[in-house]
Amino acid sequence: MTKLIDPTTKYPVMDIPEQRQSEPGLDNELKPKADHGEQSYQGNGRLAGRKALITGADSGIGRAVAIAYAREGADVAFTYLPSEQDDAKDTLRLIKEAGQVAVPIMGDLTSEVFCRELVEQAADTLGGLDIVINNAGKQVHIDDISELETKQLVDTFTVNVFAMFWIVKAAMKYLKPGSSIINTTSIQAYSPSAGLLDYAATKGAIANFTKGLASQLIEKGIRVNAVAPGPIWTPLQPSYGQPMEKLVKFGRESPMGRAGQPAELAGAYVFLASEEASYVTGEIIAVTGGMPIS
Ligand code: NAD
Ligand code: MG
Repeated sequence: MTKLIDPTTKYPVMDIPEQRQSEPGLDNELKPKADHGEQSYQGNGRLAGRKALITGADSGIGRAVAIAYAREGADVAFTYLPSEQDDAKDTLRLIKEAGQVAVPIMGDLTSEVFCRELVEQAADTLGGLDIVINNAGKQVHIDDISELETKQLVDTFTVNVFAMFWIVKAAMKYLKPGSSIINTTSIQAYSPSAGLLDYAATKGAIANFTKGLASQLIEKGIRVNAVAPGPIWTPLQPSYGQPMEKLVKFGRESPMGRAGQPAELAGAYVFLASEEASYVTGEIIAVTGGMPIS
């Protein structure tokens, strides 16, 4: 029998000390530590033999998904930025410990050329591609629109939106009927924070793109879905993702009264790629601790 666990107390309300990291943050420096399911995720062969690409899986939600996918039997290619090598080493080790092929790919998604090349490298090394997870994201909090600089605006849209278009475009020559694309939107697409105008707008675009692409690609037998996380404890937050007064209370505004952990996202990404989701496309699964997305 599996143990019955109260979701509100499954993880504690964190005591978060003031902290600031440069962008992108590192999991290695996150206080307290995040849970990516290292000790808890149990695979069941649900993605056996699949070949997955996950962007930004050195840390946070992407790392939790990489662990789950590897333990479900998938080989995993993943991207990370040059400053994230230490985190990427941990993800690499965790995929290998699950007995799967791991392909780390370093580079910056603001480059269209890199977006094309990373898909080629993933498909060449894995021997094909069945699952594409657009997970990398940039979030920088700015209180006042008059202080929102064009460079930030352009970079946020490029990483969060344009890269997703470029990667999907490059992946089309590999994805066969039965393949799956999973994007990462946010509660911010539905309930934008005042200080995250640019970020929230990209997440709205991702939700919209997911539905449009789903209706385009179903003719090819490819399903397209998204996950909308709520407040999840990852390095995105202390690296200018939140103002300090919100960071120290991160997640307490959710109906669960606590932040979510990356490990709590993995199941949704596994489901959407699995055979069990064969009649699910154009869907957005909220993993928000109870914050509604409709
Ligand atoms: P994270 O910092 O662990 O992961 C984001 C990753 O994006 C980084 O590890 C980095 O490798 C990658 N990235 C950023 N800029 C890049 C660039 N220019 N080129 C290449 N890669 C780049 O944080 P996370 O919270 O796990 O974020 C994963 C996804 O979840 C993001 O799309 C984020 O918007 C989304 N999300 C997070 C939350 C949350 O509360 N943490 C909530 C809703 C949505
Ligand atoms: Mg990272």
